[in-house]
Amino acid sequence: MTTSAQDASSQVKFFDTRGNVTDPYSFTEAIVAGLAPGGGLFVPDKIPHLSLEEIVALADLPYHQRAAAIYKAFAINMPDAQIDELMALCYSDNFDDEAICPITSLDKDTHILELWHGPTSAFKDMALQCLPRFFSASAAALREEGKLDNTFCILVATSGDTGKAALEGFKGVDGVSIGVLFPDGGVSDIQRKQMVTTTGNNVQVWAVRGNFDDCQTGVKRVFSDLAFNQQLMEQRKVALSSANSINWGRLMPQIVYYISSYAQLVADGKLEAGQLLDVCVPTGNFGNILACWYAKQMGTPIGLLMCASNENRVLTDFINTGTYDISDRQFVLTPSPSMDILVSSNLERQLFELTGRNCEAIAQWMASLNEERCFRIDRGTFGKMREEFAAESVSNADCLTTIRTVFDDHGYLMDPHTAVAYAAAERLRGENPVLVASTAHWAKFGDNVYRALFDIAPGQPLPADKAALTGCQLNAFIADETGCFYVPENLAMLDEMKVRFTEVIDGNEHAIEAATDTFLQTQA
Ligand SMILES: *Cc1c(COP(=O)(O)O)cnc(C)c1O
Repeated sequence: MTTSAQDASSQVKFFDTRGNVTDPYSFTEAIVAGLAPGGGLFVPDKIPHLSLEEIVALADLPYHQRAAAIYKAFAINMPDAQIDELMALCYSDNFDDEAICPITSLDKDTHILELWHGPTSAFKDMALQCLPRFFSASAAALREEGKLDNTFCILVATSGDTGKAALEGFKGVDGVSIGVLFPDGGVSDIQRKQMVTTTGNNVQVWAVRGNFDDCQTGVKRVFSDLAFNQQLMEQRKVALSSANSINWGRLMPQIVYYISSYAQLVADGKLEAGQLLDVCVPTGNFGNILACWYAKQMGTPIGLLMCASNENRVLTDFINTGTYDISDRQFVLTPSPSMDILVSSNLERQLFELTGRNCEAIAQWMASLNEERCFRIDRGTFGKMREEFAAESVSNADCLTTIRTVFDDHGYLMDPHTAVAYAAAERLRGENPVLVASTAHWAKFGDNVYRALFDIAPGQPLPADKAALTGCQLNAFIADETGCFYVPENLAMLDEMKVRFTEVIDGNEHAIEAATDTFLQTQA
């Protein structure tokens, strides 16, 4: 896995899924741009292949060196030494386990990949501890080349997990400031406290009057308000940017952990080198499972990719029928809110790959989704998808039952997102061992874990004495009852942390723009 970072012709180039990019982007340019012009997603012109020996040998390295090796294999336009240096910062004692994402085996053939040992206890840390550092370094390199002369302000509308992971990822990063908006009263006690206690000088958090949709719509309008964007650029030399999961720089760190896990299972004697491993992923925007597909494409012996949905089952229906239809679909509230989606944005990249990189087909399907809220893929692509993917949807009740059953059978406490994946894997599994992606620590979703353990139906209120507890207190109670005392420190300490952000603003674009401008004044 050697690359010559100096030789520009061998470096990876980025095109887009809809065929609008004619002049290819370098890695650094694609990271900073985020979304490709014309609305498509950036894709690399070549996907590196690793031999089985190279994959298995990764187990000899600490995690940050495994990640660096895979970035180098992609031949990104950064010097090897800089990749090493950045990765050493991305994956170190900001994670509470030396393995970064350790694997817990429930039995011989069921392995749980714990992706929540980072600073916010959700899997988004795996990408958001990495992207900001590469984003900042990319922007610095472009500035040096004279291709950029501004700094960035990241704006994020969040329903929970993403906001805090983005705050932790971007805090203290040079040349970037970050503002996060969450619906006032619309996130859990734990999630709100996680955000409003964030430290660092380049961060800001606002509660917004309204629901998550109001937040998201408001932020989208700010992004598309050309006059405001121009004003920020002229007066402050700041460009707005989003950290959302369609950025290639968020996808790439996720490829790493699938390759790394395979190597680890072989090293631990739980898998024969070359033996197929099936993987089940609790899926929302399709970023995590797509990363697994790329890991397979790069040579990792992965068999079936199992796509697990909650009651928002658009992806299950799509994988089972070839029709993606949201024309008459209601958004359902579930115990696994980070998978509550209708439009799964990274699916576009997956379809691009499954069609053999047919950007005309993708442009057509995405236009159809936009106009008719529906598209249907061709038979050939459907066939390819069925060879590699299987899908299941898990009801709210089954999700909670699974948490309880796995705890009773294995003494292992899962969060609701992981439980959806575990239940789906149980229904879909065949002969191969299964790796279940675990995307959050249970203590992030203590209320639903309580419901699961004490037999309260989804959506029903907790008993008055429990409803009166803070999120931390409820978690402490659950830890006591179950003996699962490991509550990550970042969650256990929240009640004692100083609240820094209390501002509540309106959700319209003017209010958000005014708040953003005031925040940026303090950043000058
Ligand atoms: C974001 C998230 C998911 C969904 O991941 P995608 O990459 O969007 O498919 C699942 N579980 C948790 C806890 C998450 O935060």
